[in-house]
Amino acid sequence: MDAKNANSIPDIVTRLRNTYATGKTRSAQWRIQQLQQVKKMTLDNEEKIRAALEADLGKCQQEAWTAEISYISTEVDHTIKHLKKWMKPRKVKTPLVAQPGKSYLQPEPLGVALIIGAWNYPWQLVIAPYVAALSAGNCAILKPSELAENTSRLMAELVPKYLDGDAVAVVEGGVEESTELLKQRFDHILYTGGEAVGKIVMRAAAEHLTPVTLELGGKSPCVVDKSANLDVTVSRIAWCKWMNAGQTCVAPDYILVDESIKEAFIEKLQAKITDFYGEQPADSKDYARIINTRHWARIMGLLDGQNVITGGEGDEQTRYIAPTLVLEPDPESTLMQQEIFGPVLPILTYRKTEEAVHFINQRSKPLAMYVFSKDKLVTHAVLHQTSAGNVCVNDGMMFMTNQDLPFGGVGTSGMGSYCGQAGFDTFSHLKAVMERSFALDVDIRYPPYTEKKLKM
Ligand code: NAD
Repeated sequence: MDAKNANSIPDIVTRLRNTYATGKTRSAQWRIQQLQQVKKMTLDNEEKIRAALEADLGKCQQEAWTAEISYISTEVDHTIKHLKKWMKPRKVKTPLVAQPGKSYLQPEPLGVALIIGAWNYPWQLVIAPYVAALSAGNCAILKPSELAENTSRLMAELVPKYLDGDAVAVVEGGVEESTELLKQRFDHILYTGGEAVGKIVMRAAAEHLTPVTLELGGKSPCVVDKSANLDVTVSRIAWCKWMNAGQTCVAPDYILVDESIKEAFIEKLQAKITDFYGEQPADSKDYARIINTRHWARIMGLLDGQNVITGGEGDEQTRYIAPTLVLEPDPESTLMQQEIFGPVLPILTYRKTEEAVHFINQRSKPLAMYVFSKDKLVTHAVLHQTSAGNVCVNDGMMFMTNQDLPFGGVGTSGMGSYCGQAGFDTFSHLKAVMERSFALDVDIRYPPYTEKKLKM
């Protein structure tokens, strides 16, 4: 539990509420100092974080650096750079009837937030939302995923050492602790994880009318048009799909490739897997492992009865699953109904762009979508006739590198967003304010409403 004060959950919430009430979290100076500490905590402990990620997920050095350590450092830098501007009142017009006067939106913190993270990017998915909550002047409880136990433990150890323990606390644990947390009243909850628990979080939040941001998942499609530069396309897809062994919420879940280039696409993709991870991906230092044996068995089970054309091998002991390609799975099979969240990539074909669009639209709105094409009409059709949380044209998940793009889902892939200013706004209330002067107090609006006034 809370590493410094082994208090009960209600006590921790009370402590944070008391801190919030003092107003200490509101100044830009306090926020910036704490943000600097978040960066320092992450960079000072780079080696420990890498080791924890390796123990949890077999995450390689490079992926730990890009997606967890440097990701946080960049997010903090961007936030500090823009914070004072984000905190300023946002002016809006004032109508003639309210002149002289001025109107604006004043961002104010919400209070005490709860952040529940998932295990696949266990440092990033708790600390990046915290950067947003902190930048907006909130106190927060951080609940890392118990499945990434080493990272969770490290976070519980480091947060009280680097950050203001009166304003932030880590609560470790699983369902029991999360259930207890969700009984408390928070001013905002940001949850990252699967749909089923997302519903539990939203139901619990409804009891207190607490607003929620749900960062969920889904089956993210990747459309490959015949005009695409195939060499670049396969490199980018392979990078995005097999990073963290496919355990990435925005990894392409399945490919829709134009039938006329199917063979060339598959050959190049197979060659790319070997380029990246060698003949034996199990020996590659750059290839991660599945988080636990339950998920390992779930992913291996998805291959039952499928036409596996590459990979398919797995080792339960080491939680290894090879980069795997499945050709033309039945759209009704579990593989095509469930989010894969592992290193298996189904490949389906289409003849006309409308068919690909139709296929995507028959399913729940995904978190991410990718289209590779040089043909503007194709790109336009896929982009504008489908819906997804985030889209990347001619690349995979590179939108994650742009702090000016909010990150979040739509429909069953989530609600709300964060990253950069979107995160600051998520954890703020934009208070609508009108300030008037005492001048020009025209009495036409006041009773008694005489005939003369009515005619004016
Ligand atoms: P998980 O098992 O780590 O669960 C997420 C969090 O929910 C954990 O902190 C866990 O303790 C908590 N939890 C579990 N059961 C709970 C309960 N009954 N009540 C309250 N809290 C509970 O993660 P997961 O669900 O396996 O995550 C995988 C899913 O998350 C995938 O769908 C993936 O796409 C999605 N995801 C989304 C994003 C995003 O940013 N949108 C990022 C990563 C993962």
